[in-house]
Amino acid sequence: MTGPAPRAEIVVDLAAVRHNVRVLKDLVSVDGPVQLMTVVKADGYGHGMVEVAAAARDGGADWLGVATIEEALALRAAGDAGPLLCWLSAPGDDFAAAVAAGVEVTAYTVAELDEIAAAGPARVQLKVDTGLSRGGAPRAEWDRLFTAAAAHESAGRISVTGVWSHFAASDEPEHPANDRQEAAFRDALAAADRAGLDPEVTHLANSAAAVLRPSSHFDLVRCGIASYGLDPAPGVTPRLGLRPAMTVRARLLMSKPIDAGDGVSYGHTWVADRATSVGVVPAGYGEGIPRAAGNTASVWVGDSRRPIRGRVCMDQLVVDLHGELPPSGTEVVLFGPGDRGEPTAQDWAEAVGTISYEIVTRVGGRLTRRHVDTDLTEHQTEHQTEETTR
Ligand SMILES: *Cc1c(COP(=O)(O)O)cnc(C)c1O
Repeated sequence: MTGPAPRAEIVVDLAAVRHNVRVLKDLVSVDGPVQLMTVVKADGYGHGMVEVAAAARDGGADWLGVATIEEALALRAAGDAGPLLCWLSAPGDDFAAAVAAGVEVTAYTVAELDEIAAAGPARVQLKVDTGLSRGGAPRAEWDRLFTAAAAHESAGRISVTGVWSHFAASDEPEHPANDRQEAAFRDALAAADRAGLDPEVTHLANSAAAVLRPSSHFDLVRCGIASYGLDPAPGVTPRLGLRPAMTVRARLLMSKPIDAGDGVSYGHTWVADRATSVGVVPAGYGEGIPRAAGNTASVWVGDSRRPIRGRVCMDQLVVDLHGELPPSGTEVVLFGPGDRGEPTAQDWAEAVGTISYEIVTRVGGRLTRRHVDTDLTEHQTEHQTEETTR
């Protein structure tokens, strides 16, 4: 790398993404072929949509999934040409652009279906609400939606390629909603069949269901969080060997001693009960670091975990260095894979009362982002070693 090391950055290991996608694909294919969709919405959960999408394809993703048409078009502009589904449209969205780019779109309502058909011939998937009470056609509308879709299909305006739904509580395998939703989904598939539809793929499972609920696999699973190496159902997921792909690191600005009784950061919400030392880390809520991490989360400095003291500020945060005075420039890892003992995105999620999804997706702001490929690095190292020994 040339130039000075960045103040604070996100490093994403694409080898980890490839590995996780392979693990998930193998896992769901145990009892027969199930297609895998890697969900890369919201800039690949903060990991970089385009780079993650390419790594996912390399790892064996049959499909990519995004929320918006804009995201789908960005993937096409970056050169992705494979099966690609989007599912969240707002009034005025440009279905014609999606259709022209070979993106499969999702319809929740007859009105949307009519708009899509007008831009057709289009490949359309139909989303049914089986109990999340968010997007998708409610049960009372299934027959109307399916009948309208079948009519458009007979007229050659659309091809109904999929019927799908989404779980509300798949990260809680014992939650009664799971059985109810799966049964409702089977009802929807029967209704689609009665309307004369014959979709290529039916799908219901996200990461947690892909891992914990084989009965919900149908033709395809849509995996987001697990592709990034994070645990889709903390405390419940069996060991799969997933590798967290994101590391957030910074360089220590300064360290200094403080006295017993000294307050730290705005509002002095932490006051030293003994003489100690503190370090200043140049990342704050302007980088998407949750302000709620004040006095709860910790970071890795040099070779140990150090608790955040006082409030997280806009541009910086302060950690307790327990009397040590590491030089400025010392590496600080806010979170990473956890291999060295550093906190993980899951640790941060627990510290601030959220889920790892939010932690990785919200970081950004002034952080720079860099993609590495540890498979390549290892390969290069081997190669170099070979050359020097020759
Ligand atoms: C985000 C999303 C997913 C991925 O969920 P994970 O829990 O991250 O695997 C799957 N399906 C839909 C409809 C989504 O919006």
